[in-house]
Amino acid sequence: MRKINLLGATGSVGSQTLEIVREHPELFQVVALSFGRNMKLGTAVIEEFKPELVSVEHRRDYEKLKLEFPNLKVYYGAIGLQEVATYAHGDILINAVMGSVGLQPTLDAIAAGKEIAIANKETLVTAGHLVMRAAKEKGVRIVPVDSEHSAIYQCLQGENPANISKLIVTASGGSFRDRTREQLRNVTVAEALTHPNWSMGNKITIDSATMFNKGLEVIEAHWLFNLDYDDIEVVVHRESVIHSMVAFKDGSHIAQLGLPDMRVPIQYALTHPERASISFNKPFDITEFGALHFDKMDFHRFPALKLAYTAGKIGGTMPSVLNAANEIAVAGFLNGQVAFQDIEALVENAMNRHETIANPDLETIFQVDQETRAYVKTLL
Ligand code: NDP
Ligand code: MG
Repeated sequence: MRKINLLGATGSVGSQTLEIVREHPELFQVVALSFGRNMKLGTAVIEEFKPELVSVEHRRDYEKLKLEFPNLKVYYGAIGLQEVATYAHGDILINAVMGSVGLQPTLDAIAAGKEIAIANKETLVTAGHLVMRAAKEKGVRIVPVDSEHSAIYQCLQGENPANISKLIVTASGGSFRDRTREQLRNVTVAEALTHPNWSMGNKITIDSATMFNKGLEVIEAHWLFNLDYDDIEVVVHRESVIHSMVAFKDGSHIAQLGLPDMRVPIQYALTHPERASISFNKPFDITEFGALHFDKMDFHRFPALKLAYTAGKIGGTMPSVLNAANEIAVAGFLNGQVAFQDIEALVENAMNRHETIANPDLETIFQVDQETRAYVKTLL
């Protein structure tokens, strides 16, 4: 039985994690969980899964939960995230919160010796060096949940990492893959939120349309698999059937295939190297696809990916700037404050004015993150 501490239980990844727990009560139990503001869903989740400890974002919701569930341990805010991440009865943390707010609880969980299944890519982008170093020192395993990274992780089972020649990360192309840059000018929030292959939270769906998501994933892959940026390639693969692949020095390529369904990588992070069944509405049938397509990435069409490679290669505090600026710019787009293409421009602007600090400590990361957010907000 795996006892789970779950951050972000009301989100897209969080809800799919709960579906897995619902399907396999003999394998999994959620003992602690957090959510943000969605009290309706959060309350239903507490009633169904009966965790021992819960945290919410705000004090007012904490007060409500304490009244409604007198026997539950309830917390809120940053302390609450830490309580969930480190809760002693859980043996693995699934970090499915959105944004760099997930960094501190990740470090707390590592310090407490918990294995971590990480969906929260912003944490690895903003402070991958600190997270991976702390995990190594503590002997804590960080297992990917992001589908591309799970695919790579699966392809590497039984392999010697020294034999990798490169990672090939696939990208669907997002909501606007068939539009020119000219045609992006007046796109609406609703259009941007319509992803062709995956159903996900709003922020990551916008990130997929700009291609910042793939950029964040390249940085995530750099940290998880300890490879140079020049050895991580992105290719456009419209069908989202191959979730990523690994090329080895003998020319062999190993790929992982399946339906675009996040329950697969989430569950694998919990069961590996074992596997458990998942009930699908319809089975994966490769013959239905007939052909799979792969195209070279066009960095002029998708400058966000270029910015992410640049930030990753510069390193230091630059990826934190990329991430924080993008989080604020995406929120600004979702609120109707800026246009779609302003997201790239705002991130580029924040990166251009930033003087990189090499090998930043946690305090420096938090400071740069806050400064960048404040700066980009003045531009919205
Ligand atoms: P969602 O926006 O759907 O969910 C985010 C979750 O985090 C919700 O439970 C939300 O609570 C909670 N939350 C957000 N902000 C805060 C905060 N400040 N304090 C406490 N809780 C907070 O996101 P996704 O599930 O789509 O994504 C989660 C992470 O996983 C992201 O890093 C994303 O990039 C990554 N990911 C997602 C995939 C997907 O398929 N969705 C695929 C691969 C990676 P509430 O809603 O109650 O306010
Ligand atoms: Mg992904």
